[in-house]
Amino acid sequence: MKREIHIVGNWKMNQTMHEISNFFVEMSKMKMELKCKAWIAPQALHIPILKEIAFTTGSIQVGAQNCCEQDAGAFTGEISPLALADMGVEFVIIGHSERRTIYKESNELLNKKVLKALSHGLKVIYCVGETLEEREADLTLKVLAEQMSLGLKNLPEDKAANLLIAYEPVWAIGTGKTATAEQAEEAHAFIRSQLTTHAERTVILYGGSVKPDNIDSLLVKENIDGALVGGASLKAQDFRALCGSASVIRK
Ligand code: PEP
Repeated sequence: MKREIHIVGNWKMNQTMHEISNFFVEMSKMKMELKCKAWIAPQALHIPILKEIAFTTGSIQVGAQNCCEQDAGAFTGEISPLALADMGVEFVIIGHSERRTIYKESNELLNKKVLKALSHGLKVIYCVGETLEEREADLTLKVLAEQMSLGLKNLPEDKAANLLIAYEPVWAIGTGKTATAEQAEEAHAFIRSQLTTHAERTVILYGGSVKPDNIDSLLVKENIDGALVGGASLKAQDFRALCGSASVIRK
């Protein structure tokens, strides 16, 4: 089953206007035909600016890093999934470990967000992953199974094509420690086995200190269909190099 490779930059709460403009100037200097999907999730505030750049250059798709489980109303500071869809945003990341840990988002809340975002036609990157303590206690697969079953409960079959999964071991995010390609592949194969519909077609990304010098060993694995990238996505040269690696892999 053919799945398209995706390189997704999660800019988190980074980048000024000046840095964004430099990023795209640098990107445009590096001539290369992209043969993968290149997506970026900037801060919500910067989405319209990136949408405009994406419209002009045609090279990237733009998403959000989070959204509310409600469409509208008295939810000060939240990001409406209805408004994201209305603005032509392509995707939203849901359940990033920083949302789970810092903002205490539960699998149950994330399930509401996933269903709501999908109902508006947004693509969803649903993130799962174990902590170091859980891995050391041999609980990785149990944690992943729980995050999958609770977070994706009642997933409508006709929306499954818009769902992507990101496996991000918490101990590998922003730490410089990458899961070995074998550890990642084992988790990805397990995650695929937990999908009740569309399993063979679902794109499963790996995230956790992905860099230009380690992406190749990950992408050659059968069940790894791209990467969700934090730190390295902030530098145009690195992001471009990641997309370059992804452009030569065919699944
Ligand atoms: C992330 O934020 O999803 C991530 C994987 O970060 P980093 O690449 O910096 O580890």
